[in-house]
Amino acid sequence: MKGVFHCKGCGSALSGEIALQSLKDPAVQQPAMLDQQPVCPIGMGYKSYEPFQRSFDPANPAPLEFSPQYWLNPEDVIEACRMTKKHERTIGCCGISGNGAPNLLCRKCRTEVGTMQTDCFTPLIFIPDPSNTEFRKAD
Ligand SMILES: [Zn+2]
Ligand SMILES: [Zn+2]
Repeated sequence: MKGVFHCKGCGSALSGEIALQSLKDPAVQQPAMLDQQPVCPIGMGYKSYEPFQRSFDPANPAPLEFSPQYWLNPEDVIEACRMTKKHERTIGCCGISGNGAPNLLCRKCRTEVGTMQTDCFTPLIFIPDPSNTEFRKAD
């Protein structure tokens, strides 16, 4: 399934064309999720039915504990985004560990469009915020 992620705030494209693979599809290999490695090549993405984060306290779900969710290579969206000024959301030791709260904003309208992690103990990943972004399928 191919398409483009868009900002719901202003409608502009956040990515180029992305070929999405569903992790429910048994033919799709599960991503390795290696530290400092992109979750997938540029131009690709996963639709995951397992959340990237889980809290052990059901009353306090982790920020990225929702599904389905998309897992993208940050390189695909970084040009259309800018970093939040909320420092606690960009903390990391040599990159952005991202505590799960959105840290990338749409460059045009500043809507919070998702969470990026790029630290040495995280894969390189971008997870769009489902309430502020939409995936529009290419025909
Ligand atoms: Zn926007
Ligand atoms: Zn680090």
